[in-house]
Amino acid sequence: MIKEDHLMEKPAIAGGKPVRDNKIYYGHQCIDEDDIKAVCDVLRSDSVTCGPKVKELEEKLAEYVGAKYAVSMANGTAALHCACIAAGIGEGDEVITTPLTFAASANCVLYVGAKPVFADVNPETYNIDPDSIVAHITEKTKAVIAVDYTGQCVENERIREICDKYNLVFIEDAAHAIGSAYKGKKVGSLADMTCFSFHPVKTITCGEGGAVTTNNEEYYKKLVLAHSHGITHDEDLMEDAPHEGPWFYEQISLGYNYRLTDFQCALLLSQLNKLESFKAKRKAIVDKYNEAFKDLPGIIVQKEIPESDTCRHLYIIRLDLNKLKCTRKEFFDAMSAENIQCQVHYVPTYFFPYYKHLGYGEGLCPNAEEIYKGILSIPLYPTLSEKDTDDVISAVKKITEYYLNF
Ligand SMILES: *Cc1c(COP(=O)(O)O)cnc(C)c1O
Repeated sequence: MIKEDHLMEKPAIAGGKPVRDNKIYYGHQCIDEDDIKAVCDVLRSDSVTCGPKVKELEEKLAEYVGAKYAVSMANGTAALHCACIAAGIGEGDEVITTPLTFAASANCVLYVGAKPVFADVNPETYNIDPDSIVAHITEKTKAVIAVDYTGQCVENERIREICDKYNLVFIEDAAHAIGSAYKGKKVGSLADMTCFSFHPVKTITCGEGGAVTTNNEEYYKKLVLAHSHGITHDEDLMEDAPHEGPWFYEQISLGYNYRLTDFQCALLLSQLNKLESFKAKRKAIVDKYNEAFKDLPGIIVQKEIPESDTCRHLYIIRLDLNKLKCTRKEFFDAMSAENIQCQVHYVPTYFFPYYKHLGYGEGLCPNAEEIYKGILSIPLYPTLSEKDTDDVISAVKKITEYYLNF
């Protein structure tokens, strides 16, 4: 009772007034009238799929990231699947990835009949630890799928060295990281293949969408085949050409239909034009949060490596559960009561029943498991107002203070 007198304000969960009346979420897409117009223009045109906007998007995306090639995909998961196919990953192979990611980063390995192997993460940056990658390499290892968690670049230089030394394909899952750069080079130009997602919670969106970028012509050709039935119209690739007439095409491998439509590409082109301004706004919010939380007892801020110029997709606060006298669930609920809807990114992949049935289990990656216990994603997207982010900060501070003194 006496303790409560010292508190600035009671959190809503303890009967106080919430910091705001309407709810905000951890993420939201930013779609304006000009984006909508770009989509409608294509819907009124002759080609709604397999048309000129697809090519235009692929060229612009490759140019933006500084890669030779880009192949648009139906979603980020399809991008990862096709990257695994293009890398020649198959039965008997192992692929090293992180557990602190969306399930798709490992599921794509299972799609091609190979085995995901989980390496641990750095306890401060939360990105895959290059030393742990090395520790998990066997003669079966074929590739590394490194995830730019929250948008921060993985340690590209070290991972490149490891992949070169052990002859592994370096696939970067950059679903969070479009717009980020490592030592001045954009994500998308660094790994052998880089996979993007354009789901609405990601930095730019076209509803569902994805892409793979690469500098390698051989991978490029395989990605094109994999995302469109394994069918080609290119006589140079055909086995039985020349054919009787121009209507002929050949299926030369087993592919899928993972194509993106022209109206989605038009939306993505429009969004791509705004990426630098989205990045500036995200960076400003991240700076503001970092400043507010860096010396706040009970809250741990994600560390960034100086090589990464990060376009942050997620802002994670990590609860120091040794200091706060609450569970993560109680903190999450307290934030909800303030009308700030948080999320947790992510449950370690191998905690899921599907992976448990495959023989994975707790204890594989102690750092990732420890980090998972305390993380919460708080709102981060370009259209948050100064007041919105002030509210988020007030709520975090109020709840932290409350639970420090509980
Ligand atoms: C979103 C996401 C994906 C999957 O992308 P979709 O477009 O939803 O299929 C893959 N990896 C990571 C790290 C993601 O965040």
